[in-house]
Amino acid sequence: MAREAEPGSVIFQVTDGVTAIDTFMGGRERYTAGYLLEAREPTLIETGPGTSVEPVTRALRQLGVSAHDLAHVVVTHIHLDHAGGAGAIAARFPRASVWVHERGAPHLADPTRLVASAARVWGELEMREVFGPVEPAPTDRLRPLHDGDAIDLGDRRIDVLDTPGHASHHVALVDSRSGAVFTGDALGIHVPDLPVLRPATPPPEFDLERYVASIETIRRHARSILLFAHFGPLTDVDHTCDLAIRRAREWTEVVGDAMRETEDPEELAARLEETALRDIQTGAEASLDLEALEDRLRLLSGIRMNAQGIARYWRKKREREAAEVS
Ligand SMILES: [Zn+2]
Repeated sequence: MAREAEPGSVIFQVTDGVTAIDTFMGGRERYTAGYLLEAREPTLIETGPGTSVEPVTRALRQLGVSAHDLAHVVVTHIHLDHAGGAGAIAARFPRASVWVHERGAPHLADPTRLVASAARVWGELEMREVFGPVEPAPTDRLRPLHDGDAIDLGDRRIDVLDTPGHASHHVALVDSRSGAVFTGDALGIHVPDLPVLRPATPPPEFDLERYVASIETIRRHARSILLFAHFGPLTDVDHTCDLAIRRAREWTEVVGDAMRETEDPEELAARLEETALRDIQTGAEASLDLEALEDRLRLLSGIRMNAQGIARYWRKKREREAAEVS
């Protein structure tokens, strides 16, 4: 049966033939998870960023997967905390195919634009220390994914669900054997220590309607547990999907309401922060050290970035509506 991650563990089994691997983004524990599917063709879901390459390689070796064994690497989307290490992992595991949404594939083959846009958000220091170098993935091993595709692992299968909203090229992945779904960031992030489920609504592609529709898609396909990239398993599918939808709607409303008074990004972020803190306090143990968890929340689903993503969503929506009227 699935269980929550044990503090301090690097790898832990989550369900039938699925092991979670702490990918230790920037050396940080319990921020980012990858998953190994045991199969005739062993498969890694999510590589973590460039700073994860060493810990992931170590974990795979510990699990008996050597350089020539790994057959597939699948990423839910190209954001650096999920796929920044894909090129370097592909170099170390020379037989692995690298699967990514067709719209993400060009950016793994040539990460120049991906790196430039991340650097604008994060700055030099965090690019180096948190995310690390981004190597291009070999084009001859890149495999583009589309909605409804199936990846055959020999004795189990991964079904691909188009799940835009967090990003337009986001996919969720269904394991045929366990019925678990790898959710990437489609439902937001879950911090098990708090616990809190927080929407992930970054620019430039956050779209509320698509985000909600994608969560409903995941709900329909999940036959057991949800496996978050941040971080680990959640067992109550319906409750988690309901909460993820409710929070995303609340956050979008809060920023939309604030935009009637101001366009100032700092003010929008401040309004959203109030809501986000309430989300934590109503779900958390009173004794928790929130400051210690702030770095994790900021790096995985920062309030400023989320507020900007939602504001951009509203502006695009208004432009669309204005264009329809005229
Ligand atoms: Zn993420």
